[in-house]
Amino acid sequence: NLAVGIDIGGTKVAVGVVDASGRILAKTRLNTDFTVTPQVMVGRIAQSVHNLLSENSVFSDKIIGIGIGAPGPLDPQSGTITCPPNLPGWNGFPLVEEMRKLLPYPIRMENDATAATLAEKWIGAAQDSNHFIFLTISTGIGAGIYLHGKLITGATGNAGDAGHFVIDPSAGRCTCGQYGCWEWVASGTAIARQASAIVGSPLSTKEVFDLAQQGNASLQQLIEQAYRYIGIGCVTLINLFDPDMIVIGGGVSQIGQPLFTAVQDYVTHHAFNPSGRGAKIVPAKLLQDAGLIGAAALIHHPY
Ligand code: ADP
Ligand code: ZN
Repeated sequence: NLAVGIDIGGTKVAVGVVDASGRILAKTRLNTDFTVTPQVMVGRIAQSVHNLLSENSVFSDKIIGIGIGAPGPLDPQSGTITCPPNLPGWNGFPLVEEMRKLLPYPIRMENDATAATLAEKWIGAAQDSNHFIFLTISTGIGAGIYLHGKLITGATGNAGDAGHFVIDPSAGRCTCGQYGCWEWVASGTAIARQASAIVGSPLSTKEVFDLAQQGNASLQQLIEQAYRYIGIGCVTLINLFDPDMIVIGGGVSQIGQPLFTAVQDYVTHHAFNPSGRGAKIVPAKLLQDAGLIGAAALIHHPY
């Protein structure tokens, strides 16, 4: 049995064929393109699924369903994207319905961080944990909550939108309308935006880290601040949920050790409960594939 996983993000879409043990047998990616309608984007995604399936003829007979992870807020029940700040123009878009017209399989959709949480529990860094938080630091920031051996998704499937914790109300207006949300100050988008303002020309997040490493002091400061903000948000999650670990994935987590060391250090000093200070901050074992494998897990391991 095989499932197709589709991880839709504000920057890129990952598509893959995943077997029942969580192995990716084939995958591809495309850019999320906001110059076209969501309808056109769905056409491109469906096309890349068709391409993957036709590359290997044994795939298509074995596909039991398609799982989609997408940025929230969304409605998993109806398969509709509700009002996602990181998918501008997609408000109210009936993603599952449109996808089903092009791909005649059972389709399930959940929040992208929720899906990635399932993957890290299934075959990732949190296999042995019954109380953990998954955090993605990418175009935005999102969290998945796994407590008492159970995924916590809330009344409407939107639990875990930690990116809209307010971290610094003096920091400017977030896409959600509040001021100084976590993702407004510490996501990949936020790091690039703030750095571009400092140097006076557009920089990608990766370029910001590279320039800081080459000695740019104001960008080093900006990154230190981002790490501290990530630490602050993690402490809030720890104080709220008492997890034994926080698993961090998403594009920005590719920076690796410096980020994990800084955040672990902040948590060790600032979590309120002494036991919370022992919470481990670890990288997603599935790296950039957590969202994709998690989307497939919605089919292989419906919860
Ligand atoms: P999405 O949000 O579409 O799921 P990603 O998880 O790849 O996509 O996150 C995209 C964000 O991560 C962007 O802000 C991008 O600049 C940043 N990013 C991607 N790769 C790196 C990297 N190696 N180092 C730092 N930031 C990165
Ligand atoms: Zn916000």
